[in-house]
Amino acid sequence: MATRDDHGSTEDRLIARFFKPLATHPGALGLSDDAAFIKPPAGCDLVLKADAIIGGVHFFPEDPADRVAQKAMRVNLSDLAAKGARPLGFLVSLALQRDVGETWLAAFCDGLKADIGAFSCPLFGGDTDRTPGPITVSVAMFGAVPEGTMVRRAGAKSGDKIMVTGTIGDAALGLKARRAELPKLSAAQRDHLLARYLLPQPRNAAAEALRMYASAAMDISDGLAGDLAKLCRVSGVAGEINAVKVPLSDAAKGALAAAPALIETILTGGDDYEIVCTVARDKAEAFKAASDKAGVSLTEIGTVGAGEGLVIRDTQGQKLEFAHGSFSHF
Ligand SMILES: [Mg+2]
Repeated sequence: MATRDDHGSTEDRLIARFFKPLATHPGALGLSDDAAFIKPPAGCDLVLKADAIIGGVHFFPEDPADRVAQKAMRVNLSDLAAKGARPLGFLVSLALQRDVGETWLAAFCDGLKADIGAFSCPLFGGDTDRTPGPITVSVAMFGAVPEGTMVRRAGAKSGDKIMVTGTIGDAALGLKARRAELPKLSAAQRDHLLARYLLPQPRNAAAEALRMYASAAMDISDGLAGDLAKLCRVSGVAGEINAVKVPLSDAAKGALAAAPALIETILTGGDDYEIVCTVARDKAEAFKAASDKAGVSLTEIGTVGAGEGLVIRDTQGQKLEFAHGSFSHF
């Protein structure tokens, strides 16, 4: 783990104390070298991803440090899941304000440790620096798929079904709840939405099913509407979904019943870290069965057609139009 700090010895000590115990993979060399190495599994392509989260943009600066660590890993894990890849490991770069102390770092590393174990995704190294700006956590993550099988955005075909994992809109509603912008909900509903914002649940369990069956896939970070529109654009097809078919949690249903305009937040709000994907009609049943078996629910929400653009219909079959096609972080 390299340092670029005028207090190099302090940083070396922090790395030895906090990060070295996490770097147990032999290729990490106990963080004692300038770089780590991995051998790609035989017959596999490496799948590469980098995503950062920034305090005040992607998380609240007062969020618990372990949850910040997990979110930083999970937004990357979610992309690997959508590509059908299994995680091999990651690098983490931290830019911390000078007043961020060892208590925060210890909790941050507890969060890393939990997800290193939960997702079999070892730490290979990284970097720590001090910054005058907000806390920034950058993760570069590596995964593997059998050669030539990474699930692309650009594979949707006319006639395919459009499906999503899990439930949509919870995190965007959770952000609203956090800012006291939601109608009255039960404590359980509110807690559910807040938790979905704080800690994404990436669908890595479904990666194998996606790789076997999906014609195209991406994870939903910027809202279902905007992300599905991107997938359709790059695939050169049109998409049509019905808002009523979009799977919602009980909490989201409760919020929507109290304030129907929240359908826009649900469909465009982002931070879902669910997967939107397409599948050939004759494979849809097997796909759903494989995903169910992996413990990830899949719901059909629409179809792919010839042409371009994404149409979202409401219960009456009317087209829904939104002011904001997709999410821009707060
Ligand atoms: Mg993505």
